[in-house]
Amino acid sequence: MEKIKLGRRFEGKVAIVTASTQGIGFGIAERLGLEGASVIVSSRKQQNVDEAIEKLKSKGIDVFGVVCHVSNAQQRKNLIDQTVQRYGKIDVVVSNAAANPSIDNILQTKESVLDKLWEINVKASILLLQDAAPHLQKGSSVVIISSIAGYYPQQSMAMYGVTKTALLGLTKALATEMAPDTRVNCVAPGFVPTHFADFIIKNAAAKAAIEERTLVNRLGTTEDMAAATAFLASDEASYITGETVVVAGGMPSRL
Ligand code: NAP
Repeated sequence: MEKIKLGRRFEGKVAIVTASTQGIGFGIAERLGLEGASVIVSSRKQQNVDEAIEKLKSKGIDVFGVVCHVSNAQQRKNLIDQTVQRYGKIDVVVSNAAANPSIDNILQTKESVLDKLWEINVKASILLLQDAAPHLQKGSSVVIISSIAGYYPQQSMAMYGVTKTALLGLTKALATEMAPDTRVNCVAPGFVPTHFADFIIKNAAAKAAIEERTLVNRLGTTEDMAAATAFLASDEASYITGETVVVAGGMPSRL
């Protein structure tokens, strides 16, 4: 693919991306940063935060980072407090963290696993936005990362898929609640060969089967997801709110 020249749509903006020290979250932080945002990266491990900061700094990005396990209330509060202390405001929040701890059928999934899926994939997004809301600027934007599995919860990731379906509803509900000053949209990625989806990396047959289900005969990239997220977060999407963009190479989702 030809290298696309990036704009500076986020000059002067402050963007928080959760779970952003690798994979899709890192790609989003990088894209927003390259387009001029000050980005705040976070994840569970200090070392990963430090490494992500170094990588982004080396690309000339203004970046700050803190440890934040999204289901830890104190760490969520600290993420928002540190951001506001440093930059005085928040323009963009990308809620990207998720867990997929089990491949059990829903009826065999333990209660503790059901709780963890709800906590990390849905509740933590809500609680983070509760903390962030007082600092969100007029014209600000929230992007929630769902999944193609939210439309089609295939058996091996069914309950994970259901939590991602919940995010489609959450997007609609929050868009209403946070209007008109803050837009809330959602990106539903297809399959991207990250650590999270390492079964694709490890299994050539699974990779080929997924590629075949797309219309463009390839897996997604973190850059594909970052491009869609950056569009929705930018003023170019100022008339779009409550929507989900499926970025899945044409894999079946909905009409
Ligand atoms: P990834 O490459 O495995 O990256 C996960 C990132 O999240 C890491 O930086 C990790 O760092 C951090 N993290 C993990 N658990 C966390 C937690 N509880 N709190 C805070 N940070 C946490 O994953 P990914 O594929 O980019 O997935 C990102 C999002 O995309 C998820 O919402 C996932 O559901 C969605 N998605 C992915 C795909 C795909 O095919 N990859 C498809 C559809 C949707 P630490 O280890 O330091 O915490």
